[in-house]
Amino acid sequence: MEMKLKPILYNLVPFDPAGHHFKVTMTIADPDPKGQIVSLPAWIPGSYLIRDFARQIETITAKCRSAKVPLTKTDNHTWRAAPCTGSLVISIVVYAWDLSVRGAHLDEAHGFVNGTSVFLCAKGKEANPCLLTIEGLPNRGGAWRVYTSLPPVLSLNAEKSRLVSRSEPAHYRANNYDELVDHPIEMGRPQVARFKACGAEHEMVFTGLIPNLDIKRITQDVKKICEAQIRFFEPETGLAPFLDSALKYVFLTTVVGDGYGGLEHRASTALIAARKDLPVIGQAKAPAGYATFLGLVSHEYFHTWNVKRIKPAAFAPYNFARENHTSLLWLFEGFTSYYDELFLLRSGIVDKKDYLTALGKQISTVWATPGRHKQSVAQSSFDAWTRYYKQDENSANAIVSYYSKGALIALGLDLKIRQDSAERFSLDDVMRALWQQFGKNFYRAVGQGIAEKAFVKLVRETTGVEVSDEISRWVDGTDDVELNKLFARQGIELIWQNSTTLPTMNVRVRKQGDQLILAQVLEHGAAHRGGLSALDALVAIDGLKVEPNQASFDQLLSAYQPGDRVEVHVFRRDELRQFTVELAPPPLSDCVLKVAAEASSRA
Ligand SMILES: [Zn+2]
Repeated sequence: MEMKLKPILYNLVPFDPAGHHFKVTMTIADPDPKGQIVSLPAWIPGSYLIRDFARQIETITAKCRSAKVPLTKTDNHTWRAAPCTGSLVISIVVYAWDLSVRGAHLDEAHGFVNGTSVFLCAKGKEANPCLLTIEGLPNRGGAWRVYTSLPPVLSLNAEKSRLVSRSEPAHYRANNYDELVDHPIEMGRPQVARFKACGAEHEMVFTGLIPNLDIKRITQDVKKICEAQIRFFEPETGLAPFLDSALKYVFLTTVVGDGYGGLEHRASTALIAARKDLPVIGQAKAPAGYATFLGLVSHEYFHTWNVKRIKPAAFAPYNFARENHTSLLWLFEGFTSYYDELFLLRSGIVDKKDYLTALGKQISTVWATPGRHKQSVAQSSFDAWTRYYKQDENSANAIVSYYSKGALIALGLDLKIRQDSAERFSLDDVMRALWQQFGKNFYRAVGQGIAEKAFVKLVRETTGVEVSDEISRWVDGTDDVELNKLFARQGIELIWQNSTTLPTMNVRVRKQGDQLILAQVLEHGAAHRGGLSALDALVAIDGLKVEPNQASFDQLLSAYQPGDRVEVHVFRRDELRQFTVELAPPPLSDCVLKVAAEASSRA
């Protein structure tokens, strides 16, 4: 017979906004009699890097029946409390000053937390329900409110709650620890709008000063994207995926001067957006970056199915203490990157011309990295923790992105399946099959992930198309996706063009202080052959000073022809060095996609 698991109580208080401190208390009713072990996650799902969130815990104390209980730290993020009888109460003070989608942030304007930064996990009680109370909210400029997809409970103690205002304290419930930390929480006085997509409640929350934000326009556009994706996965029922875990889906957007980022969760997403990318009321034309913001929204929302419910076996369940290795991130991040832009097209946000332009850019990005010949996307996925997330000046030469090449693999497979099945099937059918087999009941049953090598079989069973050769070459090998051939059969012409007419050193430069630095030296390019290195600081070309900006660099090169030899002076380790570089012709670096019919109709 199953014993009823006692809930773990959590209490979250933003008690020191000026010092960026949350106080978090957890109460374990029946601690392990041998000594309760608690730990904080070392990473946050969706961002594959060990971040050691426990380093932001400033103080930790434990009590049992008002007596102090000794704690022993056993590794970077784990403590063991001495044995005790009765409820164990552990209190921590966490420093929260990480303005990213991955951590926690608190000041006098707002608070934001990911559970992975603030909620300790009680070992052996990961499956216990969790009850969260948020209280002590500041009242500056009006009472703060709480925004999260965590399901609310009316009150833990009806008597007590009658004594306080209606918005505080706020009580929430999670079925287990994994769920508790998969709903980020925003608190403050943000701009908020609500809408329904396929009948399901959605909330958009914008934190930060954004004068005249055209929130109505944004919700109208986001609603189109959400509905297109819901109908894509559930054409018959039109059922939103998050209703297994929450009453609503929440977009938590922090708006900053310059920034971009998103992190997916089971019923919400945390986003960072640049102020200039968002539309304001009265603007005839949305800013150029608005499509980028909507692309981000589309990407994170698609993850609600693909990676939050359709998962690699390595994530079912997550191990919060260490790296979770999988070779399948190309399927989760790459395919999501393919569909994010495609859903902007399908929901009418962008037209076909804009879509092909974006696709061309994605192709150009992949082809610009020599590292794609050295690392496969399967390896790139596995090594995400130590390579993709720890990029340096050599990354373009050494690794491939499972996002951008993964998106091209999705495109290649989509075209291949369409062509080999005489347009009866497409990659869409594969996604829906993944949803039905793995995703749909993930949180309703004991969730199963996808085995590392199961994909080829699933495509064959769903569409009758054999893709084992493509997967072994594109995914496990380092072959380029043969888009030329696949597009040609689709009546689309793939053309490579110059982005410049200037001769090149095959480098990327960036300003650093008052110097222009070689940010990347592409392997086998002109600068590499001449002996230049990444991080060299440019001084002069043929005796003329290089000012610290791209324009100065381009201006100096514009005096030459491909094949000319120039003397380049640089500082390396404070030492002046001289190299001779034979300039290369401008590369055919820009991919342009043209519908063949358009080209011929001009004749
Ligand atoms: Zn993603």
